[in-house]
Amino acid sequence: MNYTIELVWLLNLFCNFRCKYCFTSTMDPSELFQGYTNMDRMIDGFNRNGITWLVHMSGGEPFLFPNFLELCQKLSRNHYMSINTNLSTDNVFEFGRRIDPERVKYIQASVHLRQRGGGLDDFIRRVIFLKSRRFKIFVSYLMYPEDMVGFEKTFQRFIREGIILFPKLYRGVWRNEFLHPGIKRRMRRFSRLRPLLKRTYPQNYSEREKRFIRFFYERSLRLAGDDYFDSDCTSDLSKETKWLDGVPDWRGRLCYAGVRSLRMDPWGKVTRCHSEHRVLGNLFEGEVRPMEEAEPCKSRICYCPYYGERYLVDPSGGEVKTRELPDKGQPGGIPDFEGQLLKEADKVKAI
Ligand code: SF4
Ligand code: SF4
Repeated sequence: MNYTIELVWLLNLFCNFRCKYCFTSTMDPSELFQGYTNMDRMIDGFNRNGITWLVHMSGGEPFLFPNFLELCQKLSRNHYMSINTNLSTDNVFEFGRRIDPERVKYIQASVHLRQRGGGLDDFIRRVIFLKSRRFKIFVSYLMYPEDMVGFEKTFQRFIREGIILFPKLYRGVWRNEFLHPGIKRRMRRFSRLRPLLKRTYPQNYSEREKRFIRFFYERSLRLAGDDYFDSDCTSDLSKETKWLDGVPDWRGRLCYAGVRSLRMDPWGKVTRCHSEHRVLGNLFEGEVRPMEEAEPCKSRICYCPYYGERYLVDPSGGEVKTRELPDKGQPGGIPDFEGQLLKEADKVKAI
């Protein structure tokens, strides 16, 4: 695929699932934003400046974006796409019939078992359908602490259908929601008990869990073969085990994020990457000016290391320091995406 810039676009803050590890699940329903609706402005923004985009669609759930199929049809005339989805909606079939698979780099479908009430038949039907239409589709399973136990059974169910399931690391905070608040209050007084109440991942996977995760990866990779993720694929799930002990700190290293890859919020605001929020314009309401050359990374952590790994000028040069992921809101901690996005939503409401 011949594209100029990869753009990660968070299309919406809206999903039909309420996974407890997702920022959309804690949002007030009035704050949920299904997506920008001025189709002409969006398409004009993409077509205006001679850039061929690879638009990586994420959210929220992209297939719930208003007029999603029309958007994909119009976008795919001049640009390419990749999609992160829970694959839970029936417009997937229409998508498969109307969109040229040559314009879609890959679809990453996540299982989110609990949200499906244990029923995987529809999900499997949609994966098989998309494969039959020649779409490249990767299926992943988030290794959220409480859900890890369901991986193997799900893997076995999928492999019978010819689908390879990949584990995906959880990067975020787990909180124990099973204990009475009074008991939790008392437990907090004892530092040794605190990990039973709250832990941050990936650094808190136990050694045993890490061994399992590595085994699952290696098995899936063996089954998938070397060319399953091509070298041009950013969401290359085969890289995940590199970050089992923490997230990388590439501060000071030259990175093409901002030049060859950008991030965009649901309202068109474009920034350098997931972790560094230098504003480079607005695609729907003005102009976007990508940076002209690679610059040193300024972020204490590369929150989405797929992008760092892909866009560092020399990913193999120098030591890769991993850093424990601090809590949300602490300096250098998990970026407060929810807070940032809600501030943007407020500004838009105020206009
Ligand atoms: S399916 Fe994805 S977007 Fe939807 S709630 Fe779960 S993690 Fe969030
Ligand atoms: S290394 Fe990661 S955090 Fe740093 S600029 Fe590149 S993509 Fe952004």
